[in-house]
Amino acid sequence: SDSHFPIPISPDDVDLSQHYPRYFPADKGEHGDGGGDAEAPRIRFADVGCGFGGLLVGLSPLFPDKLMIGMELRDKVTEYVKERVLALRASNPGQYDNISVVRTNSMKYIPNYFGKAQLSKMFFLFPDPHFKEKNHRRRVISMHLLDEYAYVMEVGGIIYTITDVEELGIWMRTCLEKHPLFEAVPEEEIKVDPVVKLLSSATEEGQKVARNGGQTFQAIFRHMDL
Ligand code: SAM
Repeated sequence: SDSHFPIPISPDDVDLSQHYPRYFPADKGEHGDGGGDAEAPRIRFADVGCGFGGLLVGLSPLFPDKLMIGMELRDKVTEYVKERVLALRASNPGQYDNISVVRTNSMKYIPNYFGKAQLSKMFFLFPDPHFKEKNHRRRVISMHLLDEYAYVMEVGGIIYTITDVEELGIWMRTCLEKHPLFEAVPEEEIKVDPVVKLLSSATEEGQKVARNGGQTFQAIFRHMDL
């Protein structure tokens, strides 16, 4: 249950030095030298329900100057991702310092981790479908949660969703289409976005679907101004 993992009371309470030690060296003190706060990097990408972390590992070298975090509910899976990142850092010095993972319930605690307009990309890749009507409120995309995601995303930021469950794909797209703060990214842009390929090729779930020859349904939307 929630009591088994710590919950930051606000985004300022998130200890970034634990996640990204190379960006926040311990000898600089908790808040750097006091004058450089404007320069302090912030988490910019969130992979919600990151599973085994394949997307983060694929994104890390593409955006070496962006801090990214995976959010994962399962304890053992989170521990696996932590170990995976540490092993990658150890065998590739100077790389993979920008990715990390946190165990949390993303449906409850997104605002505890990110402030207004902080994120430039959010990922919802192969989320659990929650088929039953009464479980729709447990889906990671809903009108209510999109309000929250819009708050933590910068204007122009992109939300990426993909699933192999057609009903869920339609649901996620419909919510995004209905929401006043999101607009579909045009097809020409999707085609040249290097991140889009990774949605299937880098995620463990996407690889599984590809091996089984399954179909996928993606919806890629931009946070816009009213
Ligand atoms: N995105 C990964 C991929 O594509 O390989 C994992 C997909 S897996 C089917 C869905 C993941 O979301 C699971 O690891 C599950 O534990 C996690 N999850 C489900 N509900 C969650 C929640 N409320 N907060 C955080 N993670 C959650």
